[in-house]
Amino acid sequence: MGPSTFAERLSQIQDEVAAAAHRVGRAAEDITLIGVSKRKPVEDMQQAYDAGLRHFGENRAQEVRDKFPGFNPEGIIRHFIGHLQSNKVKYLPGRVDMIHTIDSTRIADAVDQRFGAQDLKIPVLVEINISGEINKEGVEPIQALDLAAYCANKPNLEFQGLMTIGPLTADTARIRQAFREMLLIHEQVVRQVGTGVRPAILSMGMSSDFSLAIEEGATHIRVGTALFGAREY
Ligand SMILES: *Cc1c(COP(=O)(O)O)cnc(C)c1O
Repeated sequence: MGPSTFAERLSQIQDEVAAAAHRVGRAAEDITLIGVSKRKPVEDMQQAYDAGLRHFGENRAQEVRDKFPGFNPEGIIRHFIGHLQSNKVKYLPGRVDMIHTIDSTRIADAVDQRFGAQDLKIPVLVEINISGEINKEGVEPIQALDLAAYCANKPNLEFQGLMTIGPLTADTARIRQAFREMLLIHEQVVRQVGTGVRPAILSMGMSSDFSLAIEEGATHIRVGTALFGAREY
């Protein structure tokens, strides 16, 4: 991969974020870069923190349990971005600051109950399957409003927006189209349900497509490989 130190990769991605934002008249500061540190050791995360990264993303509840709060430098914000099973929700209270992947009323109930039991409130996003790929998590676009409203009514959930994973294709026109549809759904949900934060969060874009996502309205991008290097599974 291109530049060799973490700081160099971070700075290159920040440049690309700013360039994409400026192409569509947005400010770079309006985009939050989440470094996806899954499968990477805490030493790599510390290096990332030292280079200035503050937002970290993890996708497995057990990995969250093992890394946090052991790794807890000042000001870090921890995002849970993986598929969530009800029996794993118990690992998250006190260890994550936002959950991007609410995809059923059942998971919404479990998160509400587990965080509430510790007197915690948790910002959440509803995950949408925008590509229609059958192996993708997330609800169908048509269900977005109902699940968002459901979350907004839960006492311990703070509904803040939507999340998606773009279609797995090299066809950038198709990816852009999917992100464009997401923005429309997002605007509708925000209008009808409202969110606790302004602007509402739209989490989309990964290493291969974050520039497109920013051009189409993403507020949060989730970048793993391009920052931390390839993962060994
Ligand atoms: C792993 C992961 C990412 C980051 O993927 P890269 O292609 O490595 O940037 C983003 N979002 C989710 C939900 C992920 O699981």
